[in-house]
Formats: sequence, structure tokens, C-alpha cells
Amino acid sequence: MGQKCGSVPHGTRSRRTAAPGLRLCTSCYHDLKANLLELPEIYDDCESVLHPRRNPTLQRVSGSRQSTGIRLDEAAITARSGIIGFLASWAALVADERAVRKPVRRQPEEMADFLVAHLDWLLAHATAADFAEEISEITHRARRSAYTQPALRMDLGQCIHSGCNAAMSTTPSARDGRRTREVSCTAGHSWQPHQWLLLSRQIQQTRQFARGTAGAAAQSERPEDAA
Ligand SMILES: [Zn+2]
Ligand SMILES: [Zn+2]
Repeated sequence: MGQKCGSVPHGTRSRRTAAPGLRLCTSCYHDLKANLLELPEIYDDCESVLHPRRNPTLQRVSGSRQSTGIRLDEAAITARSGIIGFLASWAALVADERAVRKPVRRQPEEMADFLVAHLDWLLAHATAADFAEEISEITHRARRSAYTQPALRMDLGQCIHSGCNAAMSTTPSARDGRRTREVSCTAGHSWQPHQWLLLSRQIQQTRQFARGTAGAAAQSERPEDAA
């Protein structure tokens, strides 16, 4: 009786019956809505990839301002413009066909909220399957750019564990693209992102201590210079 869900990105799930009045099933509906709400977040996270300075934790851990590779920047820029382009073009379609005012600014959050408000209409529209396919593609791609940073490896000096002299660095994310980057030393000590703040303080202290020692040494030489 019912129409089948028109979504291509169903993956391994068997094709379900479309929800009443929609061209997609309820499960696709919820996935899409979640993706829409996530896109502005990913957009922001791509910005921290572009400007590690604005990612305080990362900067504190590395203690360095030059930590992104060029390939990384390109992927993040492409992802960001892809998100904006996607949201803007569907917002324009809704605004045109429903004769409503679209968000004035091309701002991801505003446009995503606008599309969520018109989601029932969009998923009943003849282009519902295209919308579903596009959003799933763009979300996957943007997630990869924001959270997988294979080029990003930072050396953090000597491990701060007492008695460990191994080199400490950030390791690239796991292949599945989740946010699993970690800091570890070659001897196997590791720190998860939630421990970075503490770690950065310890690194800072270690460096200050090293500087302090060097400074004291320099000062003790000064009287000789003056003499
Ligand atoms: Zn479906
Ligand atoms: Zn170690």
C-alpha cells in the first residue's frame, strides 16, 4: 500500500515504508534532522582546524602556532563552503516555492534552523530523495575534514611521565573518522582529549622550570659581562 522510502543512503537497512505524507521513512527523517542540526557544529569545528589558535586546548598542548598542513586547510575550506552552499541552495528552494522569507544572512545555524522548520515540507517534496542524498554526502565529507586530521602530527618534546624519556607527540585520528586523536609518547603513555588541559599545564610547568634553570644560569654569568 504505502510508498517506499525514497532515500538512497539507506545503506544496509532494508527499504522501509515512507512515513505518512513524506517520501522518506521515519528513520531517514530523524537521521536527516540530526544531520541538519549537526552541520553548523561541523562548520565551526572546521574553523578550529583552520585556525588552531582559536582552538585553545590544541594550542596549549602544542605550544606552537604553526600546526596545520596545507592539505588540511584545503579540505576544511572545501567542507565549509560545501556546507554553506548546500544549506543556502535548499533554503532558497523552500523560500521560492513556499513564498516565505529565507534567512537574511548566509549563516549555517540560521539556515539549518530554517530548513528544520520546513523539513516536513521538504521531505514531501519531489526532490526529497535528492535532499537526503546530498545531506548525507555533505555531512560525511565535512565530518572527515573536521575530525580526521592525518597530516596533523605535533611534536611535544619529552614525555612528562617521571622517568620516561620517550618523545611525546599528537597522533593522527583513527581511520573511522571519529574524534579520537590522542597525545602519546613512543613508550606508550597516552592522554585522551579530556586530559589535554591538565597535560598542557604540566608541559608548561616543565618548560618554565627548564627556562628558569637556563635563566638562572644566564644571570649568574651576567656579573662577569658587566665587569
Ligand atoms: Zn528511509
Ligand atoms: Zn612516556
